[in-house]
Amino acid sequence: MRWEPDRTPPALPYQPPGTKDGLLRGLKGLCPVCGKGRLFAGYLRVADTCESCHAPLGRLRADDAPPYFTIMITGHVLVPGVLWIERAYMPPMWVHMAVWLPLFAIICTLLLRPIKGATMGWMMRLGMTGDEGGAVLRGSKPDA
Ligand SMILES: [Zn+2]
Repeated sequence: MRWEPDRTPPALPYQPPGTKDGLLRGLKGLCPVCGKGRLFAGYLRVADTCESCHAPLGRLRADDAPPYFTIMITGHVLVPGVLWIERAYMPPMWVHMAVWLPLFAIICTLLLRPIKGATMGWMMRLGMTGDEGGAVLRGSKPDA
């Protein structure tokens, strides 16, 4: 007898959004499920529940995914410019540090929130509820 994974969809406390809707709503900082309530209760703190549809937003844990995507995107945007400036003008190292490091920090700061929102929307599309038990230590409060 061959083992088969359990493919029955989990019972979700919300209607999962479509992929495009979830990503775009999250990108705008709106609830991925309804697109009306706010996703964030601070710069990066996720609201416990949606104020409009009461989807359990605060139980989802994006963990390191948003910073990973942010650094990957920012690096791919800036590093070609760094290399081109270095080959074309060969400025002293302090010029690179004075220009690129603040630029990198500013772009990352501006992108992190929308990318976290899009990641949350994607997670909700995939049917994640925050109850999977992998990322959250058992017995701990998920939003602590
Ligand atoms: Zn909502």
